[in-house]
Amino acid sequence: MNHNKTFRHVVTYILCVAFILGNVSTPFFLPSPAHAFSIGEEREVGEKLLSIVRKEFTLLDDPDLTEYITTLGRETLQLAGPQFFDYHFFIIDNKEFNAFAAPSGLIFFHSGLIDLCDTEGELVSVLAHEIGHAASRHIADRISKSGKLNATTTALMLAGLLLGQGALSQAVVTGAMAGGLTANLKFSRADEEEADRLAYKWMKAENRDPEDMVSMLKKMRRVSRYHRKQVPTYLLTHPEPENRIGYIEDIILQDRQKKIQIQDEFAYQRFKYRVQALSRDTQSILPILKNKAEEPGVLQTDPMLFYGLSQAYQANRDYPKAEEALQKVILRFPDRHILKTDLGRLKLEAGEIKNALQIFQEINRLDPSGSYNAYYLAKALQQDGEPAQAVLIYENLTERLPTYAKLYQEIGKYALPLETKPSGIITLPCITTMKERASRSATTSNRPLKVSPRKTLSLPKYKN
Ligand SMILES: [Zn+2]
Repeated sequence: MNHNKTFRHVVTYILCVAFILGNVSTPFFLPSPAHAFSIGEEREVGEKLLSIVRKEFTLLDDPDLTEYITTLGRETLQLAGPQFFDYHFFIIDNKEFNAFAAPSGLIFFHSGLIDLCDTEGELVSVLAHEIGHAASRHIADRISKSGKLNATTTALMLAGLLLGQGALSQAVVTGAMAGGLTANLKFSRADEEEADRLAYKWMKAENRDPEDMVSMLKKMRRVSRYHRKQVPTYLLTHPEPENRIGYIEDIILQDRQKKIQIQDEFAYQRFKYRVQALSRDTQSILPILKNKAEEPGVLQTDPMLFYGLSQAYQANRDYPKAEEALQKVILRFPDRHILKTDLGRLKLEAGEIKNALQIFQEINRLDPSGSYNAYYLAKALQQDGEPAQAVLIYENLTERLPTYAKLYQEIGKYALPLETKPSGIITLPCITTMKERASRSATTSNRPLKVSPRKTLSLPKYKN
């Protein structure tokens, strides 16, 4: 071992001790005087940015996927302590390797990044890093340093930076360029280290393997080498994966007291296959999955492969084959209720409304807290000619999934004939507006409908 390396290890060790054992000196919930960018301004920019994302991209708006990623995010947020904002998590249907934290606690993942995460731990390493940036208000600091600009210009500049100008429409790119200060918004090396340090600490507290941070960074490095001509957007905003691999490996080396829990990958594999079926061309993935499924013994070694196969068949509207594959997974995991909801969703899509309804009602009795099942129960009731019952469930779900736009659309469909003024509920520009509209719709729709839920529904009470 040469002197340089020894010296580097000594320095790293000192830093590690400071990082791992030391408490964060400033509690997150105390606003620092350096933050000239107020909470109200940050919220306004966040809402404008979300509006741009909704216009420019397709979000994978699905209660199941939203619930999964939100649950993962909340695990980390509990460790992060009180926050300035309610966090919301979104999946963008886009093949680029990218994820970012936007102002006011909005965290976005591109489906292309999820595609490259092999384990839940790898996804959590990115999620925790982004929460680290948001909780430390790095983006707010950058905006403060960029000078006083209005919320629209700031949101446009952030869109250009975080989403990559190549993916945006000309109007947004022109708006982003008008700000002219985009370079100042990039995270510094110190920001990166702080977000990594927090992510490391939280992953350890969750008994997750911090090695997943390293394997994810190595994938980022591979992606950057593969795209030599154009640096991926993620690596523009989160620079130097090589450097990050170096210090995280050193921290792991020094921090031996690891208690790692073997993670159950069922939920992640299911989530990943659903994202894949919704975002990728199923004609290209179906032959690959079919070939793998024919390998001997694969049902025992990799049962979730058949789940992927069922989702791909379903996306191709081949319902009998989708059900055949899904039933194999249900047989393997008979206690996982969520697979039955998947079966109900399949039957609903295939037009078997009564069968679907029966499944959703049964699962709702067994597990009334699942948003995914409740959402599809409402859809089935709607299609079965029970819109009032459906609206009650949708309204209930808005508390649990406040950014899930489809809920407001469905509620709006039934609230509209009861109101004389047009509400434009179909396009939902921001969270506040959605919440306001929901409470308005709830008031108006509850009054004239005058229905009580069926006994079998046992509507869940959700907490925020
Ligand atoms: Zn970063």
